[in-house]
Amino acid sequence: MEHSDNDKAFEDLDLSVQEFRRLGHGVIDMIADYYSTVREVPVFPPNNSTEVDREFLEELPKTGQDPAAILDEWRSKVLPHATHPGSPRFFGFVNGSGTMIGTLAEALAASVNMNTGAWKASPAATGIERRTIAWIAELIGYPVNCGGFFTSGGTMANFSAVLTALRNVAPYDTTDEGLQSQDREGRFTIYMSDHEGHISLIRVADLLNLGRSAVRRVPGNDDFTMNVQALERILDEDIARGDKPFCVVGQVGSINVGAIDPLEDIARICRDRGLWFHADGACGAVGAMLPDKAHLYAGLELADSVTLDPHKWLYIPYECGCLLVRDPEKLRRTFSITAPYLRGTLPTENTGLDYLEYGPQMSRGFKALKVWMTLKHYGVEGYRTLLGQNIRCAEHLDRLVRASTTFEALHQQNLFIYSFRYAPEALRAVAMESTVKAQQIDAYLDRLNQMIADQIQLSGVAFVMTTRIRNRTALRLSISSHRTTIEDIDLVFSKLREIGLELQSRYQSPDPSRSSDADSV
Ligand SMILES: *Cc1c(COP(=O)(O)O)cnc(C)c1O
Repeated sequence: MEHSDNDKAFEDLDLSVQEFRRLGHGVIDMIADYYSTVREVPVFPPNNSTEVDREFLEELPKTGQDPAAILDEWRSKVLPHATHPGSPRFFGFVNGSGTMIGTLAEALAASVNMNTGAWKASPAATGIERRTIAWIAELIGYPVNCGGFFTSGGTMANFSAVLTALRNVAPYDTTDEGLQSQDREGRFTIYMSDHEGHISLIRVADLLNLGRSAVRRVPGNDDFTMNVQALERILDEDIARGDKPFCVVGQVGSINVGAIDPLEDIARICRDRGLWFHADGACGAVGAMLPDKAHLYAGLELADSVTLDPHKWLYIPYECGCLLVRDPEKLRRTFSITAPYLRGTLPTENTGLDYLEYGPQMSRGFKALKVWMTLKHYGVEGYRTLLGQNIRCAEHLDRLVRASTTFEALHQQNLFIYSFRYAPEALRAVAMESTVKAQQIDAYLDRLNQMIADQIQLSGVAFVMTTRIRNRTALRLSISSHRTTIEDIDLVFSKLREIGLELQSRYQSPDPSRSSDADSV
């Protein structure tokens, strides 16, 4: 058969294996070069979004380009405008640092391109996911015969958990009519702690069309954990009013202060009332593997479901969230769906678990590979060392803050997330004198702390963000990089102090004798 020009063009659209090998080695060199500088690279790029977008202002390519030139743009265009969560001094959000073996796993997973929605498209990948889910359960002391799967992140894990709760606890089946039926009374409601309950649950209420107000906030204790007496009271009041509580969410390592709710109490309250107990451990659940912290996690094993983000405190490259559900059958009852084109019309021997029947996604990537490989690389011992190092860094930061006259501690140090504020003692003393002065000083310090965070970001030395702790702006560090050392903490702390003092001298603090000075920042 003769080759037409079209056949030739068609064949050229796949790389030759030889060319792939050459380009691939170049890519590995680029990544290795990157890793060799990741400790020093400015953590945040200095360009604004207009400048960054201008870099990518190109026409849709009409004809193909040289692959080597395309890959080179990673170095010339992408890296210069990247933020670097792999840096040991990236402390924003709750961002894992990305394991190197996870990077390699991503490339391998992409090469075979298995779709883990269905077993037939992914026998090995499904097997690895099932095994890895069981490993993760074992790691945190959860029943290993649980169900579960990897998701894009904690929000989708929380979503899947709350939908599973609704389907299994609601007094009537919501599968076909959803929440639309006219003849049903009362509102489905969810409960979480007021200060530290995670915003993703509001998103979940939205996605389920329960309405954002379906999430009820339970007052907390002084240590930011949920007050379980208040929970019981509110549940009883809501039930008496005709609402239909179905799910209580306990925080397992909360977003601002790393607090762990009283899990055993919440489990008991849920059991007594037939409610679903969901543990949101997106950032903190894996701390249960640490022998000296395990007591804080008592009751986690009683949760009906647990959210846990490997892309946070297991340092797995994005994306990777995870949901564990005690009873796999409840996942199937919630998500099972099928069509003739998904599984063939007659049962055959060569089948296995189809994840599309146990979770919200149909087509799915092979997220488990990067978790599986990293767990093998580090082992439980390696992970304990890394998590322990993060906690030691947070403890060190807490000591620096408490020993300083320039900063103020705002909560007891828990796991690896720590919030505090720039608040020199002299100003705090003035604030003690009267409510008016306290308000002026606090307003001034709120702005100063925000400016400190903005400035340290632009300095490139470290990436720190702010949050609100009991209505005050605070600096917040999530120490969730497997590369962070005590020296990095010393460096960021002295830089925050230097920036704070400099800003304070430039923007005078309010003179306590003259009330109008409060706006001098
Ligand atoms: C990060 C986080 C989430 C949301 O997870 P994503 O992976 O960002 O979707 C939910 N709950 C808690 C406690 C979190 O820290």
